[in-house]
Amino acid sequence: MVQSAVLGFPRIGPNRELKKATEAYWNGKTSAEDLLKVGKEIREQNWKLQKEAGVDIIASNDFSFYDQVLDLSVLFNVIPERYTKYQLPQLDVLFAMGRGLQRKATDSEPAVDVTALEMVKWFDSNYHYVRPTFGKNLSFKLNGQKPVDEFLEAKALGIQTRPVLVGPVSYLYLGKADKDNLELDPISLLDQLLPLYTEILQKLAAAGATEVQLDEPTLVLDLPANVQAAVKKAYTYFGQQSNLPKITLASYFGTVVPNLESLKNLPVSGFHFDFVRAPEQFNDVLAAIGQNQTLSVGIVDGRNIWKNNFAKSSSFVQQAIAKLGAERVIVATSSSLLHTPVDLENESKLDAELKNYFSFATQKLGEVVTIAKNVSGQDVSAALQANASAITARANSTFINDQTVKDRVSSIDAKMSTRAAPFPQRLAEQQPVFNLPLFPTTTIGSFPQTKDIRINRNKFNKGQLSAEEYEKFINSEIERVIRFQEEIDLDVLVHGEPERNDMVQYFGEQLKGYAFTTNGWVQSYGSRYVRPPIIVGDLSRPKAMSVKESVYAQSITKKHVKGMLTGPITCLRWSFPRDDIDQQTQAYQLALALRDEVNDLEAAGIKIIQVDEPAIREGLPLRAGAERSAYQVWAAEAFRVATSGVSNKTQIHSHFCYSDLDPNHIKALDADVVSIEFSKKDDANYIAEFKDYPNHIGLGLFDIHSPRVPSTQEFITKIETILKTYPAEKFWVNPDCGLKTRGWDETRESLTHMVEAAKYFRNQYQK
Ligand SMILES: [Zn+2]
Repeated sequence: MVQSAVLGFPRIGPNRELKKATEAYWNGKTSAEDLLKVGKEIREQNWKLQKEAGVDIIASNDFSFYDQVLDLSVLFNVIPERYTKYQLPQLDVLFAMGRGLQRKATDSEPAVDVTALEMVKWFDSNYHYVRPTFGKNLSFKLNGQKPVDEFLEAKALGIQTRPVLVGPVSYLYLGKADKDNLELDPISLLDQLLPLYTEILQKLAAAGATEVQLDEPTLVLDLPANVQAAVKKAYTYFGQQSNLPKITLASYFGTVVPNLESLKNLPVSGFHFDFVRAPEQFNDVLAAIGQNQTLSVGIVDGRNIWKNNFAKSSSFVQQAIAKLGAERVIVATSSSLLHTPVDLENESKLDAELKNYFSFATQKLGEVVTIAKNVSGQDVSAALQANASAITARANSTFINDQTVKDRVSSIDAKMSTRAAPFPQRLAEQQPVFNLPLFPTTTIGSFPQTKDIRINRNKFNKGQLSAEEYEKFINSEIERVIRFQEEIDLDVLVHGEPERNDMVQYFGEQLKGYAFTTNGWVQSYGSRYVRPPIIVGDLSRPKAMSVKESVYAQSITKKHVKGMLTGPITCLRWSFPRDDIDQQTQAYQLALALRDEVNDLEAAGIKIIQVDEPAIREGLPLRAGAERSAYQVWAAEAFRVATSGVSNKTQIHSHFCYSDLDPNHIKALDADVVSIEFSKKDDANYIAEFKDYPNHIGLGLFDIHSPRVPSTQEFITKIETILKTYPAEKFWVNPDCGLKTRGWDETRESLTHMVEAAKYFRNQYQK
């Protein structure tokens, strides 16, 4: 009998229970015990669900209150000094590292003021992890034993699990040295870390774990020789220790073939690889697998929501069985299911036809089990038949094909993707229009999404508020944001986006070819979840999407208001894309829809239009090579198709965040002004990379994920540092990202300090 395995399950709860519990705790409304209890309930529910679905290998320690990489930093005591000096409880240390903490002094407790650690994208997904940061005074040791506690918790329920931990090489390689310690290569810390892994693995074995899953997703990257050697060293080391559980080394999100040499002859019991993303690695990895090692075949997509094709997957798995024998093959999800929504059954409003094409995390459990049964020769003919008819129906669906859209995509030419004049000439034409001072101040687009906004949006969606009443409410919110920005004297204003639930979903809901869910939440970071819309067919824009709000905002102020749109690549990346046509085609379809919107905004009198592309970096193929070079060309072209229909006088902005950007990538977009996340990347090397960026740039000056308020002096110091390498005449002043997750009090204070700092330098330079 071929076994089935699930590499991890969403931890947010079927109705976002974790978010509600975490935020209630942060707001001081509930106790730590209340929060811990909710975590326990979710874990229990997840394990039972998998057990009942018939999954053979179920993960534990896939749960986290914030992020699984951050959990490891706490477990191994990789906690920078600034978090330990307050003697906070461990749960609060974890949250302080994840999101920063600022607390006024009380009678019993001193004031706390710490910034968060850097947060970056988890490979090419829209999940963010908290980057391990290695300082000078590290003292590795075990802090508690979370993986053991959660294993025992499942065991007490009668469920044997396979604990999962990020492996030692990925943990170190995904980390960085702090800015006082830049010469340190985190990989050099391997020798100190391996005994700690051994200790926790031995504890797991003593608790009854027979097998663990160590995730080494970095194996799908281009690894330097010392990192490849570290893989060999780490797993050879584990092979020499006694009383360890069996180890399955798991990798996903791409091919491991370029690093395959480092995996040969490792003393591990088996491997897991992702054959959804990289089926082409099949022959090479089969040839590299040792005599008694197992192969976990990741064939059910952990990153997308389309129903698996059972016939195709089964024949793929059969090939592995033919080579290795049934007892050495496992049918698995391609990665953790963390990146998919919890349960399709929660979608009562979704079109029944479309619903028949989808599969969320809960449904995927049944998929791995059915494929495993099928390749083991059990009778699952009814399931196979239903699956085959769903696959055929989707291919012929009227939701999918639109000839007008296809024709328009094939008509894209160089003229459509090039601005009329190069940047210096555009700048010369724009300056008299805008007359901006040095260090112009602006924000990224969104302002706090208050409870009031959510309540009114809900009422409108439920029909309790008429379209007129809702528009009146939205306009009053826009007016409030405009007056606020005038009052604190920002230079370029935004309308604040009160009408938008999400920067992608909002547009998705207005485009033809999209479907959207009511409860399809996926964790993005911490307690922030997103509800990605689903691209089901050819995409087009039936009517203007954002013109009304921008025009209203501009009509009530003399200052310039930016029109705000989400770029084609971000719409694509933050949606569940189609898997039946390539992503480039989907990006061009989106670019054409957005081009119409950009042109409509210009025609309606909006002179500055920002098209955000925060996801452009995460879309970059993980390895260097032809696919990556091609992506760089088509991703930039899609952006330019969207933004090149305007006159030279119209100023195009763009925004990027939460990734390591290469200035050369954003140069190709030819936006007049870009703003980037920068507040936690303020080392001299990173600034130097942007020194020669030809157009204007706003370096994000404060972290919007944290409620912390930087002082005016803090802004001044930061700007001073940047000005050592970066020219004042290109310098815009703005936060890292949009402010929708923040409260009004901290927003008011932070922005006021930011504007004061900009004015300080403006005066200095005018003297
Ligand atoms: Zn951003």
